[in-house]
Amino acid sequence: ATPTAVMVATGKGAAQGVLIKGGNALESAQKVKYIVFDKTGTLTSGEPVVVGTKLFQNVALKVFFDLVASAEVNSEHPLAKAIIEYAKSLQGTGCKDLLWLPEVKDFKSIAGQGVTGEVSGKRICVGNTRLMAENGIMVSLDVAEQLKETEVMARTGVLGAIGGEIVGLISIADPVKPEAAAVISYLKSMGIHSLMVTGDNWGTARAIAREIGIDNVIAEAQPSVKAEKIKELQATGMAVAMVGDGINDSPALVAADVGMAIGAGTDIAVEAADIVLMKNNLEDVVTAIDLSRKTFTRIR
Ligand code: ADP
Ligand code: MG
Repeated sequence: ATPTAVMVATGKGAAQGVLIKGGNALESAQKVKYIVFDKTGTLTSGEPVVVGTKLFQNVALKVFFDLVASAEVNSEHPLAKAIIEYAKSLQGTGCKDLLWLPEVKDFKSIAGQGVTGEVSGKRICVGNTRLMAENGIMVSLDVAEQLKETEVMARTGVLGAIGGEIVGLISIADPVKPEAAAVISYLKSMGIHSLMVTGDNWGTARAIAREIGIDNVIAEAQPSVKAEKIKELQATGMAVAMVGDGINDSPALVAADVGMAIGAGTDIAVEAADIVLMKNNLEDVVTAIDLSRKTFTRIR
């Protein structure tokens, strides 16, 4: 392709909200045989909402949510936002600021697990079973069963522990993007395989993958797994693309032959990517590959 053809294609992309960072990025896209998708915020809306809570101790819902929401205040994670929004809604209508929340000390965010901190003199852990295990918090059979029930409904169960004991299970729903299934099926027809890699648990991941029509899933993956999987696929000689939105996707976005950041994303993901899909629409994965194929495939 001539430099002019590349410029024209890049311009066309930009007009549609597909920002291609240079000729190499555009050229690599047509070679892609395999696409690794992040789940949360990429295949799903990324705007999860709390749809239910199960309390295992005698604590008021509001008190529980004040503590867990405080621990989540400094987290950028969509699940954190969902929990904070729900805590706000419990405060009553018109609650806009977060001033009522007690302060968090010693805040830590653990990628792929959750957050910890000290709120009102109590140690708070909010996240998955791995976070609980790492912090020596026991997950009872009852909690484990409730968690499983949440997961088969394609929901994410977030555990909230206060002072080393699990107090509540927050059920969070993150609907799949309306175009997701059609895009995966269309990619298949283009000869491109899809894989979903997520830090979320196996139950939820399988339920979501089934809904979208993705056969290959890796769940409960530490953030490093996405990049490792990409290198593994590349070792077979295939060009691999990664589509993701989060900070934890950046190593994978860099490792991929083509990294695509989707949505407003985080600044870090946008920086790590070769292509930015501004409209947060999965159809633009196809748009980018199409643009590349049309620019770099000789007229037959
Ligand atoms: P994904 O790959 O689906 O974007 P992440 O790796 O960001 O998922 O997170 C994986 C899991 O870690 C989540 O499903 C959740 O159980 C837990 N988690 C991560 N961050 C948080 C948080 N801030 N609050 C609660 N749970 C969290
Ligand atoms: Mg994500």
